[in-house]
Amino acid sequence: LKRYFGSIIDKNVLLSDDDQYHLLKVMRARPNDKIEVVSDEIPYLCQIKGVKPLVIDALSVIKEQRELPCQITLVTALLKGDKLDYVIQKATELGVCEIVLLSSERTIVKTKDYDSISKLNRYQRILKEAAEQSHRSKIPMLYRLISLNDLDKIKADIKMIAYEDAAGTTKSFFDEIKKAENGSKIAIIIGPEGGFTADEVKLACQKGYNVVSLGNRILRAETASIFSLSVMSSYLERK
Ligand code: SAH
Repeated sequence: LKRYFGSIIDKNVLLSDDDQYHLLKVMRARPNDKIEVVSDEIPYLCQIKGVKPLVIDALSVIKEQRELPCQITLVTALLKGDKLDYVIQKATELGVCEIVLLSSERTIVKTKDYDSISKLNRYQRILKEAAEQSHRSKIPMLYRLISLNDLDKIKADIKMIAYEDAAGTTKSFFDEIKKAENGSKIAIIIGPEGGFTADEVKLACQKGYNVVSLGNRILRAETASIFSLSVMSSYLERK
């Protein structure tokens, strides 16, 4: 069933104008069709009662476990072109809780291009659509640019910085994620195309971040984000 984020008050389902349009014009919804709507992070099975005007009733709460047992914060450097769109979408599918955009010494893109309202609206739409697509009950939070000096603002129990000069065994990475317990907050920093400078890595270490390797090969920044989130989610959800 198609999932939307909306709000439910006394069994009445309210959807945004865009979602109403999508439901009626793209999905061609008819009375009696069922959809899923998440309200306050709780997913409900819902049924369309009428389309002119659109009336949707909530039927029951859907019991499921889609969210990771830990809250993962991905701190990603700004990337060129539409690579950041891609990272935001995939990170959402992989269960990320927060995405923090980082400006670093070797960031190639102009940071002002990333701080516009239109960019943030675009990212917000990507987050929502990816969360719906992956049937999550939470839309990840996106935070605007910070620099490594602001790392203290990120509260986490497990803190990692992925550094390609540490390339080799993934033992350091697993040693960190093995510390996770249910409810732990995990933060991982991934650098830009040009990587971090040694001084930046040193600064992150001073802020309590442990250097981890993501394996023997040097990954592109977007691959590094997706790889690390994939490994973490499969480890955290092992049974
Ligand atoms: N400047 C490097 C590549 C940077 S890769 C070069 O051209 O040689 C971009 C980011 O991905 C890095 O900052 C790091 O955070 C992460 N990364 C890529 N491969 C990695 C690996 N094997 N181990 C740890 N981090 C890695």
